[in-house]
This record gives sequence, C-alpha cells and structure tokens, in this order.
Amino acid sequence: MDRIAFDYTRQDAHGDAGTAQAWAQVPEPVSPLLAQTLKAEAAELLKAKGAVLVAHYYVDGHLQDLALETGGCVSDSLEMARFGRNHAAQTLVVAGVRFMGETAKILSPEKTVLMPTLEATCSLDLGCPEAEFAAFCDAHPDRTVVVYANTSAAVKARADWMVTSSCALDIVNHLKSRGEKILWAPDRHLGRYIQEQTGADLLMWQGDCIVHNEFKGLELQLLREQYPDAPVLVHPESPRAVVDQADVVGSTSALIQAVVEGQAQRYIVATDNGILHRMRQLAPSKTLIEAPTAGNGATCKSCAHCPWMAMNSLRSLIECLKQGAPAVAVDEDTRIRAERCITRMLDFTAARKAQAALASGMGAA
Ligand code: SF4
Repeated sequence: MDRIAFDYTRQDAHGDAGTAQAWAQVPEPVSPLLAQTLKAEAAELLKAKGAVLVAHYYVDGHLQDLALETGGCVSDSLEMARFGRNHAAQTLVVAGVRFMGETAKILSPEKTVLMPTLEATCSLDLGCPEAEFAAFCDAHPDRTVVVYANTSAAVKARADWMVTSSCALDIVNHLKSRGEKILWAPDRHLGRYIQEQTGADLLMWQGDCIVHNEFKGLELQLLREQYPDAPVLVHPESPRAVVDQADVVGSTSALIQAVVEGQAQRYIVATDNGILHRMRQLAPSKTLIEAPTAGNGATCKSCAHCPWMAMNSLRSLIECLKQGAPAVAVDEDTRIRAERCITRMLDFTAARKAQAALASGMGAA
C-alpha cells in the first residue's frame, strides 16, 4: 500500500509482524448499504452465540456502531477490561489488538474470548519481548515494575502493576507517595510525560507506538497558527514536541470528553484517527482537524491510523463468530501471575472512583 514508506518489522512468538503485512490484510472500506447487511448478520450471530462485542475507539466505525447497538461497549483499554470482566456473557468478542484479547482472557478464564484476528498486534507489545524484559527487571530488583496495558501476558506476569493512559498518573503518584522507585515499560513517551507530571523516579524501557510517534511538533505548530482558536488534544504516547503544545493531554476517553464538553467549535486531534468516528457522533457540530504526521509529501508507516487496529472488520468478525475462532489462549501459570497486576489496577481505580463519588456526595450535602 502506498502509505508505507518503510516497514516496522519485528518477530514475535507468532512470527513476523510488520506493518506491511498488517496493511496488506486491511480490507477495503465497504459501502453503507453493504455495511448495514453485514452488521445485521453479525448482530444475529452475536445473539445466537450469546456473545458480546467489546471494541476499542480506534477500530472501524461500523464495528464501534455494532458494539453499541448490540449491548456491547466501545471504550479505552481500561473500560474494555472492566466491561469484559463484569459482563454476564460467556463469549466475549474483542475488536482491537491482541493484548486486549489477552487481558480479557486473563480476567475471565472461564469465558471464551474471540478476536476477528489474532494477528492484530501492537508495536509496544512487539518492542518489549518477554526475555529481554525479564533481564531488565532482574537487573533492577529494587524497583516496582509498572507496565502499560500494551504488553503481552508474559510481560504482565512479571509486573507488579498494570496501568492504562487513563490511570497511569494516579497510580504512579500513589507509588511515589509510598517512596517506591519504578521500572516503567514499554512506552518511552508516556513514561517521560508521567515522570514530568509526577516527579517519580522512573527507569524506562524505550518502546514507542508507531502511530503516535509520528506526530510532528513543527508541523503541529504551523497548523496551530492556521487554527489559533482550536484547542490541541494529544494522547501522551506522542513525542514531547507535540505534548508540549497540547491544551489537553489524556487517554482516548479524556480526549473525547474534551471535545464533547469543550466550548470551542474546532479541535486539533493528535491520536489515532479512528477516534474521530466516536467524537463526531458525540459532538456532531464540532470540527475535528487531524494533527500532522510526517509533513507535506512525506510518507509514514501509519499516517495516524494503526494498521493492526484496522485489520478488524465486519467480515472478519462474522467469520470469527461463525467459526468460533480464533480464540485467545493464555497458559494458566502466566494467566495467574498476569492477573495480579491487572486486578490491582482495577481495584485501585474502582476505589478512587468510589472515593470521588463519596466526596462529591458529601460536598453536595
Ligand atoms: S495505536 Fe499504537 S499503541 Fe495502539 S495498538 Fe496501534 S501500535 Fe499499539
């Protein structure tokens, strides 16, 4: 595909997983009429199989719509984990990338977890192989190991805490208040942002997201001059030159909230452009401008859209429901060890939410 100037290629346990291979498997968009037909078929299959669809904001808009129309959810990775764990359905279908399916399986081992494709991976996961990460941890036994959700089950099995971009600041602040030094993996940009915001002692793995790493500071500055009234919304996996120009830095949920609740009429958005679908639905009168990636005439690996997320489609979902495969599997020893860091995060965030609700209730009384 012509958007690939150079490939990102890494081997993982499942073989070669470069962006070229991912883009080659991204289906052509379907017409609105065909989408309706495919959605109806997928909805029937979900019902027949007693399955619920859990989708990420970056996947195809038709999949997001289908999830909402059939009682599933569209959310960030924190809420995907929570929703899948708490839902009564015995079959979860995760439209996203592999670590999201693994997280669902780790939290709900008794459930069947299906994915439209298990080849949908993530450069952060690929860039943090289990053996090298274990050696890094072994070399720093005095540090609390905090890993981002975008890691394999094997890496999570080695961690003390898992975090997502929506709770990382709170959890790192909590660990800092206990005097703990942190080993952070794998996203170096998010790690630097958290370090600057909290002042915590973070020793960092040097991974990055191929989508967010491509947003460019200089081009963003030029765009801001063109649209001085537009607040800049940035996901913290982006480089410092981009984060430094942000009016809002936050998780996908936080960026959507900023558009919905903001007073401005237009916004510059620096995250995967799959998020624009939900933003447009929730704030139809607002204008959304994509932040620049590699600049005029340049090419890039992702052009603000994740090829692995884009591999998920209505057709691959239908096939997966018909076949009951591919199903996510995590060996039981790894699962038990990985579950601890995820449950710790979910318990922490639930407790914080309860405290906030109590505080606001008391304030109103
Ligand atoms: S957008 Fe980036 S962090 Fe998210 S799955 Fe794709 S490569 Fe990974």
